Formats: sequence, C-alpha cells, structure tokens
Amino acid sequence: MNSIDQMRERKLQEMYHRIQKSPLYKKKLAHIESNDINLHHLHTLPLTTKEDLRKAGIFGPLAVDKREIAQYHESTGTTGIPSSAWFTQRDLLTGGRQLKECGVHLSAEDLILIRFPYAMALPAFLLQQAAWQTGAGVVPASGRTVVTPYPRVLCLLKQLSVTVLAGLPREMELLAETARLEGTEVSTAFPDLRALCVAGELMSDKRKAHIEKLWQVPVFNMYGSTETANIATMCEYGTMHIIEEDFIVEVLKEDGSEPVANGEKGFATITTLSHQGSPLLRYFNEDIIAVEPSTCECGRIGAELTHYGRSKDRICFENNTIDAFDIQEAVYSLFPVPEAWKVLEQQEGLHFLLDSYQARKWSSEVICSQLFSKLQIPVTVEITSLLDRTDLISNIPSVKPVYIQKLKDS
Ligand SMILES: [Zn+2]
Repeated sequence: MNSIDQMRERKLQEMYHRIQKSPLYKKKLAHIESNDINLHHLHTLPLTTKEDLRKAGIFGPLAVDKREIAQYHESTGTTGIPSSAWFTQRDLLTGGRQLKECGVHLSAEDLILIRFPYAMALPAFLLQQAAWQTGAGVVPASGRTVVTPYPRVLCLLKQLSVTVLAGLPREMELLAETARLEGTEVSTAFPDLRALCVAGELMSDKRKAHIEKLWQVPVFNMYGSTETANIATMCEYGTMHIIEEDFIVEVLKEDGSEPVANGEKGFATITTLSHQGSPLLRYFNEDIIAVEPSTCECGRIGAELTHYGRSKDRICFENNTIDAFDIQEAVYSLFPVPEAWKVLEQQEGLHFLLDSYQARKWSSEVICSQLFSKLQIPVTVEITSLLDRTDLISNIPSVKPVYIQKLKDS
C-alpha cells in the first residue's frame, strides 16, 4: 500500500468511529458487527442516499457536540428540499486548504472578489478561508443581494484592481453582458485581472472556453456540494483533480450495486475522510461523473474527475440518453453563443429557448440542425428574450436560473 492509501485507510478508520456519534449513522451502522474497517471493506458498507439525509433531518448527520459548531450551511437546490451541513472551525480550515490545491495559486499579491452568495451557501466561506491561508485579500461582493448589483461589481473590479474573480459561471456571463450594456468589454476593462474561479454549477468544456474567451483570462473550476465541501479542483492544465487525502470518490452503477469501469460515466458516491461536523459515508449524491487515474503534467496525483450534471437533469429519448453536459456542449457550440438559454423536455423532443443580442446572426433552421447533430434528439428552437437586460444594469439581484426543465416538472 502506498503512503496516500495508508493515510486514507487511517482516516477512514477514524472517521468510521467518529461518524457513529451522529444519529443518522448510529442507526444506519448498528447492524454492522465489526468496527475494523479498511479500504477494501468500503464497498460492503451501506450507501447514504439523499432520502436518508432528508429523513434524518437537519441534526441527523451532526457528529460532534453542538458547542463545536462554527457554521451551519444549507442549499435548497431547485427541488426545494434543503441539504444541510455542519462545520467546525477545523472543517472551515480544511475546506480552505482543499481550495488551495486549485491551479489559480492565490498569494499575498492577490485581491480576490468573491461573488458567491454569502447567505447559507458554502463556496464564499471556503474560498475566503483559502484566500486568508495564502495571504490574499478578499472583497466580499455577494451575489443575490441588492447591496452589490452587477454594475457595482464591475466598478469594484476596476477601482480595486482585483486580480481574481470568483463566483458561479452564470455570474461571469451576466457580468460580461452587463459590461457590454454599459458600453465596455470585460476582456479589456480589467488589466489586473488574471483568473476566474468558478463553482456551484455545471461547466462543460465548451462553456469554460466561452467564459475564457469573454474575459480573456483562465477559468478554474471546482467540484463539490454543501454536504461534502469541495471534492475536486482544477489545476493549471485544466484537469479536475480529486483531493484524495480528504475524499474517497466511488463511481457506481445507477442502482448503486457495483462500480463502473475506470473512466466510465456513473453515479458519484462520496466518503468524506476529514469532515468533523457532519461526515458522510458513501454519499450517493445523484451526480453523474467519471473518474480515471491522472496522467496530468502538473504532477498532482489526485484522480481526474469529470462532472456531467445531475441525474435529475438526464434526458432519455427513445434509445438516446443525454446529460446536462451534452446539452451545454451543444448550446455553447452555437455562434453566437446565447447570453441566456433554457431547454424544455417535451413529448416529441427538446424545445430550446435562446436569447442573444446578436440573434439576427442566427437562423432557426441552421441552429436546429446544429443542435440535432450534437444531441441526436428532435429539436425545436425559439429565439426569444429570457434575460431582463434592464434589471442587469439596475439594482435587481439575480435569481437561481433553471437551464433544463424536465417534462415531469412542467
Ligand atoms: Zn493537473
């Protein structure tokens, strides 16, 4: 066994004891006789499903005394059912350390503007920790609030000579559109800006390339969730490396029964090795991912993770199955790339709503055939207005977008 696996095994054993202090796992693991767990046993332990977490309630996964808690986090998602997580001071420090793995290499020379929401959601706080641990300064410019509308954020980026901007990928697109409406371009307006850090939404390769083209700086993505904190970060070569000292990531078949082959798409199953507040064992988070051993030039050993979207956004049409990743790749291949888009699943195929200030360059027929050739599902297209551009340049906070509307939700 190599040294990283030795460390993981030790952390797994410690975690396995710790986790049984939580009401959820005290009950879940009660029937397992042996407490002698090793890495090879992991697959014999029960999965933790989203339904388990819902049933267990807010305090279900809490594995430490409440006096040790520093922060509580919750994300509502589009389903409206909250996912909750508890963080000790040590968890917040660990979360910061995980983000420091990112290829952006924050330093004391940096001023990072954090556009992630500072209410309930996790990324703003972990990135702030990462910044402080490296000596970087923070500009807390939360999204989803009237305090920092888009024009003010653009103004702060310029006035403060911000070097790194962090937020949801959508915010990067909306800030770029706001700048255009104000008669400037984000590609030239901020000479000190050197990178963007994004998280919290799916970002396919084509979407990354689009945002990099808009801003003319590299984009670093991070993959995680409220319940687990940040599982993987993107290095300077664009590879998303799993932080293996803190997470065991399994990729399972849809029924959770066995692993898929290396590099194949499957269902993410996350074991948190370091988390103290609300540790999770084999958490079946319903994300579609693929994992393969890293051969990356950066030298990081963490396996390479690709995120394809949530299983609830997966669309099956006749014999064809596509994920949110495939839809993003198709949409972001269009020219011009829309500033806003939405796809509706319908009985007879997919209906795309597309919005661009350059819509006159589109022909519905050409777009339909381009989308069809990428997705192999019948497509109809409606060129329309989805974005309220007056709101963007006034003091209106943004709301969480819905990109894919499934048949059962409509
Ligand atoms: Zn790498």
